Parts: sequence; C-alpha cells; structure tokens
Amino acid sequence: MISFLHIEPVCVGAFEDNAPPWRNDPLWQAADSTMAYLVRRHWQQLYQVNETADQIKNMLASIDAPLDRLSRETCAQCPAPCCLVADVSYDFRDLLFIHMTDQAMPPGQPRRTTGEVCRYLGGEGCLIPRQQRPWICTWYICAAQKNYLASCHEISRTKLQSVIAEIRILRKQMETLFIATVA
Ligand code: SF4
Repeated sequence: MISFLHIEPVCVGAFEDNAPPWRNDPLWQAADSTMAYLVRRHWQQLYQVNETADQIKNMLASIDAPLDRLSRETCAQCPAPCCLVADVSYDFRDLLFIHMTDQAMPPGQPRRTTGEVCRYLGGEGCLIPRQQRPWICTWYICAAQKNYLASCHEISRTKLQSVIAEIRILRKQMETLFIATVA
C-alpha cells in the first residue's frame, strides 16, 4: 500500500504539468501508480466514473472498424503519417480511462522526446488496441481523411463525428466526476 507521504510528491510530479506529461519512465510509473492507488482507494464511490468509462469503451468499439478502414485507405498514401511525425501523448483522461476500464497500462508515452517515431507503430499499423491509445489517435481526422469520407458510402462521416463528439463530452464528465470524488 502506498502511503500519503509517498503519494503527495508523486501527485505533484504526475499531474501538474500537462504539456506533454510523464515522458520519462519514473514519471510514467509514478502517474500509473498514483492513479492505481486513487482508483483502488475510492473504488466504491467511483461507480459513476466507472459507468461513464464503460460507455466510452463501448462507443470506441463502435467506431473502431470504420476508423481502421479509414486509416488503411488514407495513411498509406500520406507523405507524413501522424504515427511517424505527430507529437501525440497520453493525457490525464487517457490514463484515467485505462485504469477505470481495468486495462493494462501501456509501457509509456508514445515518444520520450520530440521527433521520435511512436513506439507503438508496427509494420501493419498501431500495435495497441484503440481503447489503449491516446484519445488524439482516434479523434483526429485529417483533411485527406475528411475528403475520403466525403466520397465514401461505407463509412458515415456524420456518425463518426457524432460519436467522437459524444466521447469527448463523456471524457470530460469522467474526469470531473473523478476529481470531485477523490478531491
Ligand atoms: S499510439 Fe498507435 S495510432 Fe497513436 S500514434 Fe502511436 S502508432 Fe499511431
């Protein structure tokens, strides 16, 4: 069990700086263990957060296949795919979501320093399930993808955008509820 004497400095290091946070292994592990501790300690009171996280999980599952298809159709032709060049990172809500849905924490931020290729990029695309990826990997739809969607009859752009908008709201709610509970 982690004591409050240990938690206090860890919380400061893990949650104060948000731009981008927890890039080295000790900070990442501190964020992980702090979140795990808070979730464990307040689990009984976190049922609404848990329900919200489950809702998000189901909604992510509902758009996984169309988004995978969209990536397959567009990213291969892109001269600068996000997974190679974009500086994506996990944020507080990502970590909270992973913990509240009882998933394994990925080993660290996608990049330790700016300019690195995402560590989760494999030969066939992303190596981790959508529910474990940073949220930005799901919500960001680039101009080329929007163009593709405009002429694609198999994937509904409107549905994708409305699910993404709803998840965005739920993530905010999940965070607000969590902070109100543990504060
Ligand atoms: S986590 Fe996956 S989807 Fe996101 S940038 Fe890395 S390889 Fe791409």
